[in-house]
Amino acid sequence: MSIIVQKFGGTSVADSNKILAAARKAIRAQEEGHQVVMVVSAMGKNTDKLIALAKEIDENPPAREMDMLLSTGEQVSVAMVAIAIQHLGYKAVSMTGAQIGIKTNNSFMKARIESISTDRIRKALNDGNIVIAAGFQGVDDNYNITTLGRGGSDTTAVALAAVLNAESCEIYTDVDGVYTADPRVVPKARRVRQISYDEMLEMASLGAGVMHSRSIEFAKNFEVPIHVRASYSDEPGTLIVSQPESMERAVCGAAIAKDEVRFSICGVPDEPGMADRIFRPIADRQIAMDMIVQNVETAGKAEISFTIPATELSATLKALEQVKSASPEAFESFSYDNNLCKVSIVGLGMERQVGVAEKMFQTLADRNINIQMITTSEIKVSVLVSKEQGAEAIRAVHEAFELGTTPADVRPLVKPEMISDEEKIRLINRLKHMEDVLIESITLDEKQASVTLFGLPQEPGLAARIFQQVTEAGLIVDMIVQSSGDKFTNLTFTVDRSCADAALELAKSIAKDLGCTSPTACPAVAKISLSGTGMRSHTVIAARILQILTAGKININMINTSEMRFNLVVNSEDGPRALELLKSELGDVIAE
Ligand code: ADP
Ligand code: ASP
Ligand code: MG
Repeated sequence: MSIIVQKFGGTSVADSNKILAAARKAIRAQEEGHQVVMVVSAMGKNTDKLIALAKEIDENPPAREMDMLLSTGEQVSVAMVAIAIQHLGYKAVSMTGAQIGIKTNNSFMKARIESISTDRIRKALNDGNIVIAAGFQGVDDNYNITTLGRGGSDTTAVALAAVLNAESCEIYTDVDGVYTADPRVVPKARRVRQISYDEMLEMASLGAGVMHSRSIEFAKNFEVPIHVRASYSDEPGTLIVSQPESMERAVCGAAIAKDEVRFSICGVPDEPGMADRIFRPIADRQIAMDMIVQNVETAGKAEISFTIPATELSATLKALEQVKSASPEAFESFSYDNNLCKVSIVGLGMERQVGVAEKMFQTLADRNINIQMITTSEIKVSVLVSKEQGAEAIRAVHEAFELGTTPADVRPLVKPEMISDEEKIRLINRLKHMEDVLIESITLDEKQASVTLFGLPQEPGLAARIFQQVTEAGLIVDMIVQSSGDKFTNLTFTVDRSCADAALELAKSIAKDLGCTSPTACPAVAKISLSGTGMRSHTVIAARILQILTAGKININMINTSEMRFNLVVNSEDGPRALELLKSELGDVIAE
């Protein structure tokens, strides 16, 4: 019999009436002939309330005890939903993560699922029950209760749908689907009918809170189609599947991460291993860094900037203090700015169209919005702007890319095909633990050159001006990084090697116009790309890459991350050796 997983978020089980409405949806699916597994979140804002309660005693409560505390929120809801279903005359059984057999690692408050046993759920289903599973929680090898991180019930739902080879995974929430941007911030946002796993993964990771980004890693790795829809209606919502909605559009959506912190680390010796020394303690704490930019300060010294979500501020400060006391020579000083937000555009079609980043910069320049940092990758462009300007920035960008209008080539919705149980098992068995990172390929691009402009003035419109000229000169830019650190605003971009001279000439004339120092060019750089799923959020990958290259005494010139790719730029002579080292040392996580 086919299995359906239905997940109900906090607002959708916020009171008894909503719980009864959710129960009726599950009963209806059972009446239609399916076996039904419900995954529920804590009622309403209960998780927030529990966190506030703990903080009344300690601002930084112990993580293990937080998991013990927070897991009770979901335990209340599963019992309530089971009471509702039985009250309506149907069989139901509630289960905690531990009772189901959701095994996780022991990273409290951000535990990763290792395995899920299906025996107990299947038995309860075969006995005619609707099974109600507590979202967001599991148990480690030592019987400690763990939680998966805020919003983690989506991940429980998609993981269960994967191991049960469910026909569909329905995410019922307070919005009727996935929009081109958060409809609460961008009123003109449009509901999309369909979005690809890659785009949704990137959107979620960049701030689109409608789905927990790790749930999309599961969906992509184990081919689980997701249907995001409203709990208050029966209308169809958005399908998250392999294919994008449109092949024509460069950009499919925009996202905002409202609370970002940018760290600037000054006086870092410019030599192999410097990134490893600073970043590894951060990655080891599973803090996902984004927007990493290195600038050369003076001969032999560099400045490194990176962003983290504000929730990781105190952990990052601890990591940096640890670095400084273990190796005082690692850097001279650091500062951070937490009055920032990150606005990003996402789209699989970006790689095929030129001028996308430039259009974003121009749009912000027209509004006099200063860009404080830029990073780009194959599927996204992210900029940092001041917190007050975030909403205006995303609305402007949404408008400029006409995201509110339906693309002309919208694909007709096709019901995703189910894969066989054997194929599903093969997909799951590719990995030792269900949430292990999977690298699909590692490639070396030896066709690029880079150009750096130094000491640029900090003013709105700067990036727009530069990239307008770059585009007019017919230069096709691949990577762009810019950071306004404490002392410098530098901007580096890469172009095809054949254009290196032209790019340098252009950079010289731009520098002259702006009255800043002479730009430099590396006429040949090597770009190494690791492609996979969850490349940024699995911080272990960053940690391992840095370690491998440090051991090989290879200096990293640029790093750029997205969920799909981890890109590194090294000196061209180091390229082939870096590739070989990474391929051999990362063999255990490279897909066959
Ligand atoms: P739940 O409690 O059901 O898990 P969440 O609050 O986690 O619900 O997610 C739903 C919210 O996500 C919406 O109310 C909306 O404001 C927000 N959101 C952010 N980005 C998007 C987007 N691109 N599309 C739809 N909703 C979004
Ligand atoms: N209750 C948890 C939270 O609020 C998990 C979830 O809702 O997905 O983060
Ligand atoms: Mg949620």
